[in-house]
Amino acid sequence: MTRPQNQSRSDFELRSLAREIDLLRTEIREGRRPNNQSFLHNPTLLAIIGLLGTVATGIWQLHSARELEREKLRSTLIQEASKSGDNEKTIRTLRFLVEYGLITDENGLIATLKSSNAPSFAKEAPKAFTQREIQNTFGDPKLQFTLEGLGTPDAAWEKENIIDVNLPQMVGVRGFPKTGKIKFHKIASSHLESAIAEIAERGLLSKILSFDGAWAPRNVRGTSQYSIHAYGIAFDINAEFNRLGDKPKEIDAKGSLIELVPIFEKHGFYWGGYFSRPDSMHFQYGIKSE
Ligand SMILES: [Zn+2]
Repeated sequence: MTRPQNQSRSDFELRSLAREIDLLRTEIREGRRPNNQSFLHNPTLLAIIGLLGTVATGIWQLHSARELEREKLRSTLIQEASKSGDNEKTIRTLRFLVEYGLITDENGLIATLKSSNAPSFAKEAPKAFTQREIQNTFGDPKLQFTLEGLGTPDAAWEKENIIDVNLPQMVGVRGFPKTGKIKFHKIASSHLESAIAEIAERGLLSKILSFDGAWAPRNVRGTSQYSIHAYGIAFDINAEFNRLGDKPKEIDAKGSLIELVPIFEKHGFYWGGYFSRPDSMHFQYGIKSE
């Protein structure tokens, strides 16, 4: 494990940057530093900028910017700090920015951030596939409705697309089949396997309190539109604690899925907690790339 070492190195770099900024502030105040160029020739600072990327550049811009531009730069700083892809680093950088008065933390959000819930705070929500994109990618299950809202999929579509996915780690989770297998779309299956494997590896399987269904040939309740579950690319977990329409549970609440969201996202699953009518128990495969 090299992590603690990296972490202290990074802390050291932040402190160095802080000192440089203090120095810069003094020099700017005293009129000893008339343009940005001299700043960019400081080799120590260049090395730090390399590590912190646009964040440090943004800090510099903030100091040299006109008052009117500062608000924009502040939001850029927050965005840039959040793009590191390393939550611990994002949080340390954000706190550093607050400490130096470069951004404000009026509601105490940054102060209470935890590594595991940083992405949902810091990042913009990803975009899910539209129904049309889903149909183009995963095929049309052509449901024949026998009962109200519950259908039978086209046999050829099912044969071609729906396979057994083996998730042995999930055996024992309430509601999950004892065989360890569920039916899922062949395109999304390996992604679900790798997501569950990563959750298990990170010791987060205990966050999954129940399995509440995956492939289901049905409509969205109360409509004539296919549910995403009809395509075999969606699943529900912890339904009891994440009712449709309820605000997603905070990280420490029982049944909260916040810690699993970044992992599922990494493997291509969009979280229903982002819907305008939140469906926090729900994950579906298919995230649009930028
Ligand atoms: Zn669902």
